[in-house]
Amino acid sequence: MNLTEKIVKLKEEKHAIILAHNYQRPEIQDIADYVGDSIELSQKAMLEKDADIIVFCAVDFMAESAAILNPSKKVLLPTLGARCPMAQMLTVEEIKRQKTLHPTAPVVLYVNTLAATKAQCDTCCTSANAVEVVSSLEAKTILFGPDRNLAEYVAEKTSKKIIPIPEWGFCPTHLLFQPEDVAVLKNQHPNATVIVHPECSSEMRQAADFIGSTSKMCTFASESKATEFIVCTEEGILHRLRKENPRKQFMIAYGDAVCPNMKLTTLDRLYAALKEEKYVVTVPEDIAVKARKSLERMFESAGLVKAKRS
Ligand code: SF4
Repeated sequence: MNLTEKIVKLKEEKHAIILAHNYQRPEIQDIADYVGDSIELSQKAMLEKDADIIVFCAVDFMAESAAILNPSKKVLLPTLGARCPMAQMLTVEEIKRQKTLHPTAPVVLYVNTLAATKAQCDTCCTSANAVEVVSSLEAKTILFGPDRNLAEYVAEKTSKKIIPIPEWGFCPTHLLFQPEDVAVLKNQHPNATVIVHPECSSEMRQAADFIGSTSKMCTFASESKATEFIVCTEEGILHRLRKENPRKQFMIAYGDAVCPNMKLTTLDRLYAALKEEKYVVTVPEDIAVKARKSLERMFESAGLVKAKRS
C-alpha cells in the first residue's frame, strides 16, 4: 500500500474528512475531500455532521475556526508550526487600544486572526465577502484588521472610512508580487487576463483585470472566455485552476510566491496526524463563544448561511 492508500484507509476507519486550502501542496489537495478558500472550508467544517474527525490542512487560524464552529468534532492540524504570520500581527491589546480611540466604530476582522482577537470583534469577514460584510454595517467608520491591503480595497469599494488595525498588517507572500513582473508577462502574452488577490499591494490591484479571493478567482477563470491568465496569489492555487480548466493556461506572476506555512503539510505529516490523532486544536470555551458569534455574524451579513446552531 502506498502512502496515499494508507491515508485513505485510515481516514475511512476513523470516520475523518480532510479539508485542504487552495494553497496546499498538489498531493494534499488531491487527497482531500474538499478543497477551498477559508470561507468555503469554514462552512464545510461548520455544517459537517457525519465525520468524527476533521483534518484541516491549512494554517492555525483556519483550524481554530473549524473547532469554534463545530465544537463536537475533533479538529486536527497536521503540523503545529503552520502559523499565519499575518494572524499574529494583531493583538487583543491593540484592538482594545483602538476601541478606546474610536469607541463608536465597529471592529471587523479578517478571518486571518487568532481566536482571542476574533472574540474582541463585532464581525469577521474573508477576502471573498469583506466588501459585503462592511457594506452591511450602518456605521460610517470601521476598524478593520489585520490586512492593510484588504482594508484599502474595502475602502475603495464602499463609502466607509476604514481605519486599519494594526496600521501595517500584511501577508508576506502576497507582498512579493510586483507590477513589473506582470508587465513582463503581459508583453509575452498580451491577451492574458490578470487576476489579483486583494492582499496584494494597491499597485498590483491597479494592474488587475479582476480582483478577488481564491474562490472568486476559480469561478472567474471557469466562466471567463479568456484562455490565458496571469495569476497573482500564492502558487498553490495553480493546481486547482489547471485541474478545473485543462484547456486554459495559467501563469504565476512571481514564481517564488510560496507561503511556507501552507506548505508545511506533507503526506507524511498528514498520515502521522491521522494515525496519532494529532495535533488537536482546541479553543477555550469563553473565547470560543464570543469568536463563534463573530463568525456567525459574518455568515449572516454575507447572506451565506443561516448560521444558527441547533
Ligand atoms: S498566504 Fe499569507 S495570509 Fe495566507 S496563510 Fe500564508 S502568510 Fe497567512
